Amino acid sequence: MSLRMHESVRPVLDRLDVPTDLLVAGAWRGGHDGGRIDVRDPATGEVLASVADAGVPDAQDAVDAAAAAAAGWAATAPRARAELLLRVHTLMHERSEELALLISLENGKSLADARSEVAYAAEFFRWYGEEVVRLRGQVGLSPGGGNRLVVTHRPVGISVLITPWNFPAAMATRKIAPALAAGCTAILKPATETPLTALAVAALLQEAGLPDGVLNVLTTRRPGPVIEAVLTDPRTRMLSFTGSTEIGRRLLRTAADQVLKCGMELGGNAPFVVLADADVDAAVEGAMVAKMRNGGQACTAANRFFVQAPVHDTFVEGLVARMADVRVGPGSDERTQCGPLINDDAVRKVDELVQDALARGARAVLGGARPEDGPGSYYPPTVLVDVPADARLLHEEIFGPVAPVVRFEREEEMLTMVNDTEYGLVSYLYTGELGRGLRLAESIDSGMVGLNRGLVSDPAAPFGGTKQSGLGREGSTEGLLEFMETQYVATSW
Ligand code: NAP
Repeated sequence: MSLRMHESVRPVLDRLDVPTDLLVAGAWRGGHDGGRIDVRDPATGEVLASVADAGVPDAQDAVDAAAAAAAGWAATAPRARAELLLRVHTLMHERSEELALLISLENGKSLADARSEVAYAAEFFRWYGEEVVRLRGQVGLSPGGGNRLVVTHRPVGISVLITPWNFPAAMATRKIAPALAAGCTAILKPATETPLTALAVAALLQEAGLPDGVLNVLTTRRPGPVIEAVLTDPRTRMLSFTGSTEIGRRLLRTAADQVLKCGMELGGNAPFVVLADADVDAAVEGAMVAKMRNGGQACTAANRFFVQAPVHDTFVEGLVARMADVRVGPGSDERTQCGPLINDDAVRKVDELVQDALARGARAVLGGARPEDGPGSYYPPTVLVDVPADARLLHEEIFGPVAPVVRFEREEEMLTMVNDTEYGLVSYLYTGELGRGLRLAESIDSGMVGLNRGLVSDPAAPFGGTKQSGLGREGSTEGLLEFMETQYVATSW
């Protein structure tokens, strides 16, 4: 394995095996054409490491490896798979500080956010390790009484797992753990911006005793042809993708040719609603979590704040005070609360959305302008008020530390605005009356609702969206069944 790491990373990661090559059939190796991809620290722009660049022949090798391992892995006892996953959970906790630092270095997020991510990511191994031994089929009598209905679940087969850069550990483990628990072999393609964490997690799986070929990892700067080669191979049966709606749509078209099973976790445009009867202090706390986790670079990030008129000014005052207090800096600095964005393009995009809102009449009560040029891809915490309905940031993912606030008077008006989006991932709602909250949740078209909470993610809960936020669910038993086929046997005895 060739380790090409910047000296600043090496000593702190001594205890963590961070491979930088492709994992194919249990061996770490370079790509066929020898290319490498630089991985940069978004806080400084400096190169942290270079990883192998897979091409189409490497993709074919990965499918061969996953196919060769498939029957053996599918035949493993659920208890054996469970024990392996539980060992990985333990290993992730033992190496949690190193993993958090690695996430922070390649992604930019604060160490506090990175530590939470490691704990969340590790939990998928424990939860699915515990769940897979409880999975049973069903036997029942047909309604007419003529025969028995025997229903069982079996692994869907070779699964392609594609992950984004914003949660480099959790988005990978949320797929790897259920896929492996179900008995599938897999090919993981992590995001090019943040491949190191996924490679480190794969090394932990090997350390825990994963048989060769069960998980293969391809890093590539040519995702189009490489993933197309994998998805159009007739041996592949499942696509599990987390990323933007735009790329998701494209992959669904490719997946259609082989009629692949698809799990799609796509973009979001989460509303955060504060009703007049809400505990405003609690709403501000929740807003900070929903907006500022990972510097706003989350599919679940609160993207639009709708605040009822009587509490509007109090909420804005509280939010501005908290946002102004956020310490911005390199994620790996222990004092940092908000790190840089992933790269300079992301800063340009966030600023473009803010300037568009300002040009249409919004007012910046905090931030609102990108800093003068300097090292690192930073954008300041920003709060905008009086945001007009046609501002682009009410309709597009901001993916940055920007909170646009809209005042509303009546519930019906708020519901119309909340549902006026092609996305339906998550919504947040603060109210002092639980019944009102549950009633309104039923009128909101999103896969998840945070009721008096700014965080919904939980390995035990079904995570996923409606409309163009995706298909299927991750986490919970539903997430395990995504990687399984149901077989029904009509039986007479
Ligand atoms: P992205 O650009 O869609 O990329 C996601 C993954 O797809 C990356 O690994 C990327 O590889 C790969 N990819 C890009 N083009 C591809 C192609 N033609 N064929 C196959 N794979 C391709 O998204 P991102 O910028 O990394 O992540 C941010 C997005 O993810 C946001 O929209 C966010 O809302 C969404 N997200 C959703 C969830 C959820 O659970 N719903 C969770 C987290 C993030 P490269 O890195 O090489 O481009």
